[in-house]
Amino acid sequence: MEKYYQPEIETADRETMKALQSERLIETVKRVYENVEHYRKKMDEMGVTPDDIKSVDDLYKLPFNYKQDLRDTYPYGMFAVPMKDVVRLHASSGTTGKQIVVGYTEKDMDLWADCVARALTAAGCTDEDMVHVSYGYGLFTGGLGADGGALKLGATAIPVSSGNTQRQVTILKDFGSTILCCTPSYALHIAETMQSLGVTKDDIKLKAGVFGAEPWTNEMRQQIEDMLGIKAFDIYGLTEIIGPGVGFECFEQTGMHINEDHFVVEVIDPDTGEVLPEGTQGELVFSCITKEAFPILRYRTRDIGVITREKCSCGRTLVKMTKPRGRTDDMLIIRGVNVFPSQIETVLIEKGYTANYQIVVDREHNFDSIEVRVELSNETFHDTIKGLDKKAKELSEALKVILGINAKVILMEPNSLPRSEGKAVRVIDKRKLLD
Ligand code: ADP
Ligand code: ZN
Repeated sequence: MEKYYQPEIETADRETMKALQSERLIETVKRVYENVEHYRKKMDEMGVTPDDIKSVDDLYKLPFNYKQDLRDTYPYGMFAVPMKDVVRLHASSGTTGKQIVVGYTEKDMDLWADCVARALTAAGCTDEDMVHVSYGYGLFTGGLGADGGALKLGATAIPVSSGNTQRQVTILKDFGSTILCCTPSYALHIAETMQSLGVTKDDIKLKAGVFGAEPWTNEMRQQIEDMLGIKAFDIYGLTEIIGPGVGFECFEQTGMHINEDHFVVEVIDPDTGEVLPEGTQGELVFSCITKEAFPILRYRTRDIGVITREKCSCGRTLVKMTKPRGRTDDMLIIRGVNVFPSQIETVLIEKGYTANYQIVVDREHNFDSIEVRVELSNETFHDTIKGLDKKAKELSEALKVILGINAKVILMEPNSLPRSEGKAVRVIDKRKLLD
């Protein structure tokens, strides 16, 4: 028997869900119009008032919001409550050097935990489970997000955080973790490390994993399931909306149910902004209709996907999205961390390099690597080897500060990188992440 965390919501009929969404959207639009200059200005410019929003069908009348809006209002300009009501901040990478910041009230934290608890429950987690969280803890939403869901279910959270893979294996074995939460690539990396240490799947008690924050294929799922002896579930989310738990997979493993009582999804044509019918591929756009601190509306995720309301065998009526099929921008996800080529370019220019660079991303032993190749100028090229080593090290450190991950720096001879006649090809991604 399929278990739900909040059955009345997860299996609600369409009319009930729509009525709930409409009521919540109307209230949210009023609230942001009154409290946040950013929304009021955008709506005024379009000639839309809160009174024009009478149901969720009127969503299309509202203006879109972009990552750029978070940068323009950095850090707190889009918050809809006074800071004293904000109990938590999280952050994600922006398109250039600066991070974008989001906030949560106590109620927001609670509903976030509900969303993740639904996902964990769909993966078979109960209050008897030991939830091993290997997402990074900190400003990144992954670690604390998964943790909150485990706590909510009354399971035992093991906040291992990411890194130190041998220790992950020891903990899996000794503590008896039953559910693993991390990025899919890290799950495979842990599995490989287990093998190299001579630990077999019979030595551990894992039964399921909830993996997300980066794209992964069904082939990768199969590999993880075989190597760890578990069932592997997908979970989708983004910081701007709430973090992990926007969508989650059920036992059918054919896409993710969206927690649409909190996040209304639309699929649009990324070029025209037109709303596309169900079943058509386009850009996913989400509106938060229950959050207090950061209720972003019509957020352009840049993720490409398809949604469907076809009946799911799990009994949930929540709309489903396919795994994201790509992005409309150039964002890379490296070890679960968002990286924009423009962030790298900003650092290079700041450090006095030319804009002749190339970013090479690869995956070896399920561990993502990123290499930044940048040309030296004619003057710097004649530096001593010691001098060049120092330069490379400095650049690598500067990149680490901005990106949050280590990048290998390769200084190149002047004019050695290929020149393009059209759009420069800056990124070479050797990983095969999409089906
Ligand atoms: P998160 O902490 O959930 O990764 P970020 O804001 O750092 O949130 O990154 C969000 C982006 O990560 C999404 O827009 C999407 O591109 C990607 N992402 C998150 N979950 C998944 C998933 N399950 N499958 C594919 N991509 C995902
Ligand atoms: Zn289902």
